[in-house]
Amino acid sequence: MVTDSPLETVIPSSGIYIPKIISRPLRPADGFKMGIFAGIHGDEEAGTLAVHELIKWAESKPAALHDYELHFYPVCNPTGRNLGTRHNHSGLDLNREFWSGSTEPEVVFLEAELRRERFDGLIALHSDDDSDGCYGFVRGALLSEHLLEPALAAASSHLPRNELPLIDGFLAARGIIKEGYDGILCAPPGQHPRPLEIVFETPALALMPQQVAATVAAVKTMLAEYRELQAFAANL
Ligand SMILES: [Zn+2]
Repeated sequence: MVTDSPLETVIPSSGIYIPKIISRPLRPADGFKMGIFAGIHGDEEAGTLAVHELIKWAESKPAALHDYELHFYPVCNPTGRNLGTRHNHSGLDLNREFWSGSTEPEVVFLEAELRRERFDGLIALHSDDDSDGCYGFVRGALLSEHLLEPALAAASSHLPRNELPLIDGFLAARGIIKEGYDGILCAPPGQHPRPLEIVFETPALALMPQQVAATVAAVKTMLAEYRELQAFAANL
C-alpha cells in the first residue's frame, strides 16, 4: 500500500482547490476502489478530521488495506468551510446539486471524478446537529445496509446510535435510512452494477474527538466487512 502525495486539484477558472489523496494497494490491479468524501457541507468538520486520521492510518501501511485503493476527498466544499457554512460561497447546498446539470465548479469536478473512477463504494461523511446519535443513509448496492449495521455498532463504542423511528423526516430502523434526498453526492446514474453507497452521520453537537473516533471506527468497519462480504459472495 502506497500513499501518493496530495494532488493539487484547483478547479480551472474557479480558483477553488479540492484536495485529493490516493492510497494504493501494493498490486495495482488487486484492489477494491473506494471513494471517501467529507465536508460537502462546509460546517461539518468531524468528517474532514476523520479523513485526516484515516489518511495517517493508510500511510502506516496497515494489513487491513493491502487490497484497497482509497481515494480520500477531505474537503469537498472548501469555500463553505472557509466561511463556516453548510452551503458553498454561492449559497448552494452542494449535496442537492448532483447529476442534475449543475454548473457549480465543485459539483462539476466531483462528478468527473465519480465518472472516471467508477468506485466500488462511496462513503460520504456528515454531521447532523438535530441528532443525538449516529445514523446513516444507504442506497445503491443491497449490501450497503449490511455494512452500515456493523459500522454503527462499532461507532457506538464512542457515540450512541440514533434509535428513533423517524430521523431527519425519514423512516429509520436502528439508525439506518433507506430513502434519501435527491441530488446527493452518489455514483453516476448510469453506473452498473450499482456500487456500495453509504452516508454516515455523527451528532454534530457531541464532542468533536468522539465524533471523529466514531467516524473512523465506522469507516474501518465498513472496509473490513466489505471484503468479508465480497469473499462470501465469491464462494456462493
Ligand atoms: Zn451534511
